[in-house]
Amino acid sequence: MSAQNPIFIPGPTNMPEEIRKACDMPTLDHRSPAFARLFRPAVAGVRRILRMGEGEVIIIPSTGTGGWEAAIANTLSPGDTVLAARFGMFSHRWIDLCRRHGLNVEVIETPWGQGAPLKAIETALRADRDHRIKAVLGTHNETATGVKSDIAGLRRAMDAAAHPALLFVDGVSSIASMPFEMAGWGVDIAVAGSQKGFMLPAGLAILGVSPKALAAMETARLPRTFFDFRDMLKSYATGGYPYTPAVGLIAGLARSVEILEDEGLDGVFARHQRLAEGVRQAVAAWGMRPCAASPDLYSDTITAVVVPEGCNGTDLVQLAARKYGVAFGVGLGEVAGKVFRIGHLGMLTDVMVLAGLSTAEMCMADLGWPVRLGSGVAAAQEHFRRTAAVELTTAA
Ligand SMILES: *Cc1c(COP(=O)(O)O)cnc(C)c1O
Repeated sequence: MSAQNPIFIPGPTNMPEEIRKACDMPTLDHRSPAFARLFRPAVAGVRRILRMGEGEVIIIPSTGTGGWEAAIANTLSPGDTVLAARFGMFSHRWIDLCRRHGLNVEVIETPWGQGAPLKAIETALRADRDHRIKAVLGTHNETATGVKSDIAGLRRAMDAAAHPALLFVDGVSSIASMPFEMAGWGVDIAVAGSQKGFMLPAGLAILGVSPKALAAMETARLPRTFFDFRDMLKSYATGGYPYTPAVGLIAGLARSVEILEDEGLDGVFARHQRLAEGVRQAVAAWGMRPCAASPDLYSDTITAVVVPEGCNGTDLVQLAARKYGVAFGVGLGEVAGKVFRIGHLGMLTDVMVLAGLSTAEMCMADLGWPVRLGSGVAAAQEHFRRTAAVELTTAA
């Protein structure tokens, strides 16, 4: 039965039936024109979702982490310096990946719950007079803490320092759910994955690559084979692929873009904002707070809820899975045990969110946490009633 419950982890997300159907297709020869017919709309759709200008979309059978690896392997050389702030598990893992590739990472340690420290980044870039820093890494939505960073501000900081570094952004848990402006923010590589905002199974790394990043590809010396953009782009030119593509997932991706655009991207973003606000109202009614330090940092796709002193967030997640068949996210790294996470992205309605909040409350009551049943649900209900798109006129 639990398979019928919605899922509240921040990816993989709940899958619309139409997307599952689109992925489920007979075997197709990926060297045939039929594949090109399937692939082109997916690529064109991603270009619109990312709000790219010039540049190329790259779709690799991989996950978000592979997208990070592809971004650096295609543009950087051993010993190059990159600048990154560490404020959560995902920014941390990206830094670790760069180090394992022999890059020199200049890390700005930032408290978990904060976002990209724009002033410190600008200062570091100004101090780098001989431009050793080749790329700045930005984690748009830190999924471990539920913190959204200001990527437009990050670009402004780079411009203020007149620094020529590339700007790479991890948008794995924001793209297709929260506003993202690849061209508008001057992002050189945007990284997404299939299993979050795109509502697909895991299995695709989805990247937008700017002309500047494509130029860096020509001189970059980090080794790459599977992830080599040059092979991809050569094959793309003829409607092909350098190896065997994940055909079903690509079909699903094209369908995902259609579903997102039917709702309208602005509608998708507004829905995520509204659902997130309902969750935050519930969290406040529980007497708790998000891990994100201030409202400007609140993510609209994931809330990491700081649990009361003496409580353990992981207990709630384990109980929810065992007793009610509902999945929430555990706290990771520095905030392990101190938070539990409610993913609210992808295919989700207010009714589904209410079910999740209600389950979390049952677990809190089971665990003896100081929370009154229904308090958070009621706060979210009030928010959803107030903000529902359809105004019902009262019948006499
Ligand atoms: C999920 C996630 C990733 C990792 O993606 P995988 O698909 O699991 O490799 C990277 N960054 C962020 C912000 C994420 O939320």
